Amino acid sequence: MKEFQETLYDSIAQCFRIDKMYFEHKTEHQHLMIFHNAFLGRVMTLDGIVQTTEKDEFIYHEMMAHVPILAHGHARRVLIIGGGDGAMLREVSRHRAIESIVMVEIDAEVIEMAKQHLPRHSAGAFTDPRLQLVISDGMEFVRGAESGQFDVIISDSTDPIGPGEVLFSEDFYGQCKRILAPGGVMATQNGVPFFQLDELIQTRERMGRHFADQSFYSAAVPTYYGGIMAFGWGSDDPGLRQVDEQTLQQRFREAGLETRYYTPQIHRASFALPAWVQDALDGYGQ
Ligand code: SAM
Repeated sequence: MKEFQETLYDSIAQCFRIDKMYFEHKTEHQHLMIFHNAFLGRVMTLDGIVQTTEKDEFIYHEMMAHVPILAHGHARRVLIIGGGDGAMLREVSRHRAIESIVMVEIDAEVIEMAKQHLPRHSAGAFTDPRLQLVISDGMEFVRGAESGQFDVIISDSTDPIGPGEVLFSEDFYGQCKRILAPGGVMATQNGVPFFQLDELIQTRERMGRHFADQSFYSAAVPTYYGGIMAFGWGSDDPGLRQVDEQTLQQRFREAGLETRYYTPQIHRASFALPAWVQDALDGYGQ
């Protein structure tokens, strides 16, 4: 029986049995695999790193979409960087008050293969009339985008390896800050602190130079091995991180969302970081 062994770390690895291979190919940018595992359902990997599984993707996509949008409170224009599997687009598009969604993905083949072999991820979201889909490097896109045009930016990137590396640069965060409207919020995929603490500290330093309030929130996504994963957070108003539960409840109700992980209580609690993570960050400003 063939197995997938993740190559994200040198000294440890998680391994999934491959019960059926749907697609394996070197695209223009990265090595893409989509296979079936009896427990996890369909799994997508890029460059040997788990990107998403049908079993637990709801945790990651609900938390990365609904926390910034419901914290913002009146988001109308959302930018998604990456997210080629389409699940982030699916969750963002559930907010009917949003008027436009721009999604910038570097690898068209990821989108095409995900549509074909991971259909439940996008669940038809790519046909949403509010969507403007751009095939481009996210860094190039934000560099050329007009200032102040987005209310929420979600960087649903790979790890800072290969094409994803530029999405963790100070220049990227600075450009994203420039194209956010006043009151805007940015959320980023920021790895698993237990194994990638340096990534968290690097984001604190780099994002912190451009956002008055830089922090993190978290959720445990089982196949992002190693405990809680961190979501980078940037805004100019600390209050956006501390929206009260009653307001979140009202916004959640008005949005009419049915979720399997996100709740207003978990939203608020997710900004509480373990002491060892907070201590590691305290040495780096904010
Ligand atoms: N949820 C996953 C995670 O946490 O690792 C990430 C999901 S999604 C598959 C990551 C996407 O980022 C991929 O579709 C990849 O092609 C895209 N990507 C990587 N580098 C990029 C770049 N520089 N610009 C735009 N998209 C990029």
